[in-house]
Amino acid sequence: MNLQTNHRDWQGIPYFPINQYYRSEFGEKVYKIPVSIAETCPNREGLKGMKTCVFCDEWGSAAYPERREMDLVQQIKVNRELIRKKNKAHKFLVYFQAYTNTFTKVSRLREQFEVACSFMDVVGITVGTRPDCVSDSVFQLWNEFSERVSIFVELGVQSFNNEQLVWMERGHSGEKSLWAVEKIREKCPNVNLGVHLMFGLPGETDEQVKNSALLCSQLPIDNVKLHNTHVLVDTPLAEMYHRGEFQPISREKYADRVSIFLEHLRPDISVHRLAAVASRHDELVAPDWAAKRMENYQFILDRMRDRQGYQGKSYSAELAKGVSLADLQNL
Ligand code: SF4
Repeated sequence: MNLQTNHRDWQGIPYFPINQYYRSEFGEKVYKIPVSIAETCPNREGLKGMKTCVFCDEWGSAAYPERREMDLVQQIKVNRELIRKKNKAHKFLVYFQAYTNTFTKVSRLREQFEVACSFMDVVGITVGTRPDCVSDSVFQLWNEFSERVSIFVELGVQSFNNEQLVWMERGHSGEKSLWAVEKIREKCPNVNLGVHLMFGLPGETDEQVKNSALLCSQLPIDNVKLHNTHVLVDTPLAEMYHRGEFQPISREKYADRVSIFLEHLRPDISVHRLAAVASRHDELVAPDWAAKRMENYQFILDRMRDRQGYQGKSYSAELAKGVSLADLQNL
């Protein structure tokens, strides 16, 4: 994972895109096949009094929820065909995306992994999960399969600030996220580890975003995925929005936050994407700009170029060392 990178190597892009990492690892671009196999998560089950995360729609962030009645083999085949038609795709990662994909028996997870690995063109498995849903038996499973295919873990951290985590009803703390990252790295050195973060949360400041990047830069992670906080229908956040208790940030402000984050991020951490898009437009309540994938991408790139910003521009190991989780608690 110690890919040597600097901004001159990113082919005109001011950050280290994950596709470049994929190319170095697999010799070509690889495509994720999203599948909806997990059926729930600790929040939806009300474990320890937890509630649904305020931003989460009923599908648990699935890309193709309409196919969740299909079995795993069918989902892989159908979704792979769609991706193949759109792109010249030869190699794939099966992406266990919806809900929490380690919140079930390990024997069931093993069966699912076996199915994914039975496809000759599947070179890896990506698992979406939460910091409080990993265990020794899960680590063992990942290690076992990492000898056959690449294993990518995407951890839903969202924020390191505990007040924001409570507001989101995440049900875990910033401390738990740090614990999970360190534990996964210790127990699964071959797993490619990424964290998801959200911007546009209440109380967020430029300073917090900068410190999040510096904290991430100290962690043994390989990639990050960035989300804007958007409001989807039938979510607790939609109710808050309609009551006037939540206002999404503007695209300008979001683009500035992404720029600040990337400028303070270690340059060898690859980046999945710069913003989330509401894939089902009829489910988007606000902001309108969250429906425009390519426009948003270009907007953020332009904003970064206007600032002459690029990933790692303001990062140094010494600066990062001065930032701790405690610094993320004061907004
Ligand atoms: S975001 Fe994840 S953990 Fe939260 S309610 Fe949705 S599926 Fe569950």
